Amino acid sequence: MKIVILLGAPGSGKGTVAARLASENANLKHVSSGDLLRGAVAKGTEAGQKAKAFMEAGQLVPDELIAQMIKDVIAETEGDVTMLLDGFPRNVKQADILADTGAEIRSAVLLDVPDSIIQDRIAGRRTCPKCKAGYHAKDLPPKVEGICDHCGTALVIRKDDNPETVKDRLVVYHQQTEPLIAYYKEKGLLRVIDGNQGPANNAKAFLAAM
Ligand code: AMP
Repeated sequence: MKIVILLGAPGSGKGTVAARLASENANLKHVSSGDLLRGAVAKGTEAGQKAKAFMEAGQLVPDELIAQMIKDVIAETEGDVTMLLDGFPRNVKQADILADTGAEIRSAVLLDVPDSIIQDRIAGRRTCPKCKAGYHAKDLPPKVEGICDHCGTALVIRKDDNPETVKDRLVVYHQQTEPLIAYYKEKGLLRVIDGNQGPANNAKAFLAAM
């Protein structure tokens, strides 16, 4: 098992790229820390109950809480699989925890998107709560308004996608997650792609860079 880390601000399109690639390539596995946490919140597990308030405020949940979830997924993943790790690590401490697991990190790919574009992208974001497919009201609409193309479920706007929380999430990104760019550059693992080419071309560029 190898790991490819997706780096980028909230709304940079990491999740869409990873989901698209994983659905097209059987040996790629999309693991989203945000989806793991939202799943735990929905189920009402102990971890979910602890995470909920942090998530709604646009803050990071405690490192140990999300790190344990990721370690569990790594431990249960067998065979010739490349894990597309989307949303973890989010700070240097988490990157150190990941390094300590001994898992082989193949690269860290940054989807580079300016903040000015991010706000607009998140404002239009619609998500399928069942199969996790991502849409945008203007740029990537579903065939039938409000309904997931893949599974027919009604799309939702994430609670933390409101403009106020988005601002907080961007502050957290710049303060805590951006230092990972230098962290992985120093290790020779950083690749940078233009994250503003549309979902299909972003995915192609990502595949070529990883
Ligand atoms: P995302 O879907 O990746 O935007 O994550 C949604 C929310 O889940 C974030 O705003 C955080 O509150 C929480 N979260 C996701 N991944 C992490 C992580 N690696 N560390 C801490 N909190 C996280």
